[in-house]
Amino acid sequence: MAATGQNLSLEEKLQILSGAAKYDASCASSGSTRQGDGVGAAHKSGICHSWSADGRCISLLKVLFSNNCRYDCAYCVNRRSNDHRRASFTPAELAQLCIDFYRRNYIEGLFLSSAVFSNPDDSMQPLLETLRLLRGEHRFHGYIHLKVIPGCSPELLAEAARLADRMSANIELPSRQSLLQLAPEKDEGQILQVFHQVHQLTGDRKLPAKSQKKHAINPAGMSTQMIVGATPESDLCILQRADLLYRGPGLKRVYYSAYIPVNVDHRLPALAGAPPLLREHRLYQADWLLRFYQFRVEEILDPGQPQLDSDLDPKAAWALRHLEHFPLDVNRASKEELLRIPGVGMRSVQRILTARRQTRLQAEDLKRLGIVMKRARYFLHDGRHYLGDVPQREDFIRRALTSETRKATSNQLSFNFNQPAETAASALTGEL
Ligand code: SF4
Repeated sequence: MAATGQNLSLEEKLQILSGAAKYDASCASSGSTRQGDGVGAAHKSGICHSWSADGRCISLLKVLFSNNCRYDCAYCVNRRSNDHRRASFTPAELAQLCIDFYRRNYIEGLFLSSAVFSNPDDSMQPLLETLRLLRGEHRFHGYIHLKVIPGCSPELLAEAARLADRMSANIELPSRQSLLQLAPEKDEGQILQVFHQVHQLTGDRKLPAKSQKKHAINPAGMSTQMIVGATPESDLCILQRADLLYRGPGLKRVYYSAYIPVNVDHRLPALAGAPPLLREHRLYQADWLLRFYQFRVEEILDPGQPQLDSDLDPKAAWALRHLEHFPLDVNRASKEELLRIPGVGMRSVQRILTARRQTRLQAEDLKRLGIVMKRARYFLHDGRHYLGDVPQREDFIRRALTSETRKATSNQLSFNFNQPAETAASALTGEL
């Protein structure tokens, strides 16, 4: 299948292909809903925001190379059976567009994905050619996130890994069975193979940061995306899948994307109401516990309780099921114990450990150290007093936490609609 839409203007192509890219969450796109053409309405040109490996917020041109797909995935707006405008850039057009935007200070980098318009190698080639032009001819050293085409040859993947800062391949759905049902032309083995091959290229990510600097290959690592709510898998199943991926070949990040219905298809669920954003949000929080708080999946969920609690964040839900561990003495608890307290994040733990070398901490010190006392107080004492304002009983604490969580979640989820998914996830999970 040849690239199409060559009679379109560059502006029309940009409009079509940036619109076609907006459902991909794995670059932590802003998904901004601001209306109007005034100053700063950058989302209309496909500009989104992402977080670089060093934590800076950067603007990206988020765009598909082509939306002309030979596959027919049930959930996808770009699928072959949809009757809508198709367009493709040429590598020279896209590289020039990117560099023009960069020179005008609109963007600092590029998120490039594509529909599969030909066989994997032929679909991957023009993406690579775009990167070659940017890195070579235009001497562009900005951030590039490339979504690779699974099934392409190892040589193309190796070149992509040298040219891009981050690469991703979407696992799409939580199980092979669901992938077969909704995206039968995709091959799970080929997607997993991408992770293995890139892992082999990048070597041992567990090396100390200093010695990793010489590996200038895909330095920001691999990520993937899973759609949540299009198929019947439980949160337990989704987290088990994510955990397996993290334990496997060098995957840095799993993005969860609440299913947004864009097609009518008998294989898809009829969604009443808004996309499952609260569920997506809880999954990000649980994912954070797996990656940074040394929780195991089976501590968060089990077959008897396979769904995350919508009223409580997963760390608070765990603590409430394990009140036998609490309240902890903030002056004596170990680092690992402190990390398990709801409302006490990693930075707060470090501050507690540092501060208590100098002084005996009391309730009034903790707020100053950044502890979210609205949640943490029910699980702490200062050596003399329990810090909660309700009895240390599951029903009392649940009620107190639930009302706090409802307030916080409604604020944060409205933030989530308008802000970068990853920003929101970070903001939400920073002091779990
Ligand atoms: S391969 Fe599937 S998910 Fe990707 S663009 Fe084509 S139809 Fe959409």
